[in-house]
Amino acid sequence: MTPFALRFDNRFTSELPGDPETSLRRRQVLGACWSPVAPTPVAAPRLLAHSSEMAETLDLSPEDVASDAFTQVFSGNRLLPGMDPFAACYGGHQFGNWAGQLGDGRAISLGEVVNSQGERWELQLKGAGLTPYSRTADGRAVLRSSVREFLCSEAMHHLGVPTTRALSLVTTGEEVVRDMFYDGNPRPEPGAVVCRVAPSFLRFGNFEILAARQETQLLESLLDFTMDRDFPHLEGDVPERRAAWFRAVCERTALMVVEWMRVGFVHGVMNTDNMSILGLTIDYGPYGWLDDFDPDWTPNTTDAHGRRYRFGHQPAVAQWNLLRLAQAVHPLYPATDPLQEGMEHFHRTYTERYDAMLRAKFGLSDRETGGKHGQDSGKEGDTETLEEEDVLIQDGLALLHRVEMDYTLFFRLLGEAAGQTPGGASSESQGEGPGESSSESSHKSASASGDRINFLTHFEAAFYDAAKAEAHREELGEWFRRWRVRVDASPEPPEARRARMHQVNPRYVLRNYLAQEAIDLAEQGDPSRIRTLLEVMRRPYEDQPGHDRFAARRPEWARNRPGCSMLSCSS
Ligand code: AMP
Ligand code: MG
Repeated sequence: MTPFALRFDNRFTSELPGDPETSLRRRQVLGACWSPVAPTPVAAPRLLAHSSEMAETLDLSPEDVASDAFTQVFSGNRLLPGMDPFAACYGGHQFGNWAGQLGDGRAISLGEVVNSQGERWELQLKGAGLTPYSRTADGRAVLRSSVREFLCSEAMHHLGVPTTRALSLVTTGEEVVRDMFYDGNPRPEPGAVVCRVAPSFLRFGNFEILAARQETQLLESLLDFTMDRDFPHLEGDVPERRAAWFRAVCERTALMVVEWMRVGFVHGVMNTDNMSILGLTIDYGPYGWLDDFDPDWTPNTTDAHGRRYRFGHQPAVAQWNLLRLAQAVHPLYPATDPLQEGMEHFHRTYTERYDAMLRAKFGLSDRETGGKHGQDSGKEGDTETLEEEDVLIQDGLALLHRVEMDYTLFFRLLGEAAGQTPGGASSESQGEGPGESSSESSHKSASASGDRINFLTHFEAAFYDAAKAEAHREELGEWFRRWRVRVDASPEPPEARRARMHQVNPRYVLRNYLAQEAIDLAEQGDPSRIRTLLEVMRRPYEDQPGHDRFAARRPEWARNRPGCSMLSCSS
């Protein structure tokens, strides 16, 4: 009997060659894109959390989710008719070096579901046991990293960042031994399995491994396959479609990284095996969220020396990774022009969209309309205004860094400030502005001294170091005054600007310490915080009364705590 009606249509395994060997023997898998492998059953699975949106997308009812069958299936203990479980073969460049075959060492895809809307969703269990690609590892995942992947996948989705999704989080009732900081202190931890979901889990590395082995025919089959399944809108003859495909991958990658920069997300391990062909954020490992704005920050202790994957370096790394993909597929292109063009398209797209994103975060108008708001809207004036605004943005970011200000809170509070009318009065009650009464601010003109006082009080919640804020008082006030002049020159009503800024500047992000608190509780047997966070992160742009705590800056105890500011690849 089928417990729930998932319709499977497994194109990847039916259209691409698989490994003829079915054992778990660790091996180099040649001439194939995947290996058949079933999940290894676990002792005592328990469902800790699920995403109701994802369940609904898969046409699973609340009763389906509550059933024992659901827990059995999504822990890997039971297969449904139509499932065709497999592990994919891929390689990758890790920290800049070619690493050879990697593959799904602990991820096992169950199959591709086609839902009632006709959408295709691949279901994949992470932590489901050994595969031929497990190398020296155990095929399992610990609870802490599974909570992080589960929550962040859904949080990113609701923030509007392209991402793989998560359906469920199950504990296995088994222990997994991990040396969290690779420092000779292994300890047993609770094991877990996440069911993640995406239209495609193909990575740059799926192409790279075939190119490295000079399996050009298979490389061509894989390219044809992904163009057909994952990029069905591409048009033209074969060379045209291939050119458009690479361009599309470049574009999607650029847009993904812009979104990371917008919300302050640091992936942490942008190896080419962790780069999705669909431009989805994939493989949540030692990722992190900026608290204080620092372009050089990385949460990944494994990368602490080179800081290759630091926040501000992400666009450059994405470009480097795309170049590896271009080199891999190069034998299938008659000339390098389309690949070159794709790389240029990445650069162009990233530059334009990053600029537009920052302008929106700061509440400035689109570049096209920008500068036309002033009294003097002559052409020269426009350019001058835009240049002035570029400097304003750069100065603002530099100040955030120097003063150690919280990235998320700063922009949210800037949005609140934008809601104030030019005279300084708030156009609606301040709600979140700490310590400042609107009657106080309404007395002030936009004079330099008034704005200086405003700044320190209005942004108080975003400072990590009061002494630094005080030391930069003049500079901050001056910057704020310049910003005020720019926004006051625009005809956009304050309340509309505030609303527009609040749509791009989230109030809630999955701060590292928040995830860690949920993990600490879950490890003690209480999964309730995971559910609370999941709920809060469903509406990250809304003020949620009663949940202010989850919008607060990183508390001092979390500054140097493992899991909050320091993470490793051990998961
Ligand atoms: P990651 O750093 O998570 O992207 O993983 C790099 C490679 O190591 C991938 O091929 C993973 O499947 C594999 N891997 C990571 N952890 C494990 C594990 N516990 N068991 C088996 N393979 C793993
Ligand atoms: Mg990976």
